[in-house]
Amino acid sequence: MTATTEFGLIQNYFSFDTQRDDVVLGIGDDCALLKSPTAKQLAVTVDTLVCGVHFPEITSAEDIAYKSLAVSLSDLAAMGAEPAWATLALTLPDVNEPWLEKFSLSFKETLKMYGLQLIGGDTTQGPLSVTVQLTGFVDADKAMRRDAARPGDRIYVTGTLGGAALGLKLLNVDDLPDPMIKQSCLRKLNRPVPRVVFAQKAVEYCCCAIDISDGLIADLGHILEASACGAKIYYDQLPVSTEFAKCSVYLNGLDYTHLLLAGGDDYELCMVASGENEQSLFSLAESMDVLLTHIGEVDASGNLSVLNSNGELIELKHSGYEHFTHE
Ligand code: ADP
Ligand code: MG
Repeated sequence: MTATTEFGLIQNYFSFDTQRDDVVLGIGDDCALLKSPTAKQLAVTVDTLVCGVHFPEITSAEDIAYKSLAVSLSDLAAMGAEPAWATLALTLPDVNEPWLEKFSLSFKETLKMYGLQLIGGDTTQGPLSVTVQLTGFVDADKAMRRDAARPGDRIYVTGTLGGAALGLKLLNVDDLPDPMIKQSCLRKLNRPVPRVVFAQKAVEYCCCAIDISDGLIADLGHILEASACGAKIYYDQLPVSTEFAKCSVYLNGLDYTHLLLAGGDDYELCMVASGENEQSLFSLAESMDVLLTHIGEVDASGNLSVLNSNGELIELKHSGYEHFTHE
């Protein structure tokens, strides 16, 4: 992208009002200058969303902007960090002003909602792709790390699972008896709500968490690998939305077990905590109107077993989304 186009574009669409007094110098120079808080650790994450890979081509500019922030906010939530600063690397096929207008407005609103300030970025020409890097703050040694699970700990998830993956399957289905099903699952796909505020408080009771981006089995698997543990989870306890439950009655031919265990994109948290903190964690969740469900236990087996209501093992076909190995 030429310098003049890029300059005008940034001026028009990405120069937002200052939100934070820890930004000494924001967009416009070679680097942003930031005051980092002395008592905190910085939590840093970056994610790229590529058109046609991470979101369908028909996704609106508003939803792309929202989701590009939500997926990185979900990473901050998974550590229990408070969002602070954002950078945005945007690759655009062309300068489409109406598209940029919508993207910019939605991006700005989402930044504001989470107390984030956009402090810089990069703009290039090419196939549509959006990279958001976020920095957050977390009290020293309070972050919820993947390597902190221990045998005997209990496993929980926030919200419901499988809705986003179901939304993707329903994109081209138009004959469902209840239109709310598709609408609700598409909302889960396009507007996942990162558990940012709950997670910042949950660090008091929970030392280990991951956000579910690639599916429960894959993501819990990362915790177990990092912690050198195994786990049992109870299939019948996995929380689903009413729309998910209804759809499994109306629409045959979908592998609902797979959607639930391995469907990605829900951006809920899978949390591991010691049993003695369970009551506090549930009270916190309830006080914040967050659905929290106990789904299993960490053990020393080295394997992840999913059990049905009779205690029998459920066979897992695919563990989750893996890049470069599409089904
Ligand atoms: P440089 O050549 O030093 O990389 P750029 O011309 O790419 O500088 O960017 C100029 C300024 O605009 C920098 O402060 C950069 O952080 C910011 N910027 C560029 N693109 C974006 C964007 N998409 N969103 C926010 N800030 C941006
Ligand atoms: Mg640049």
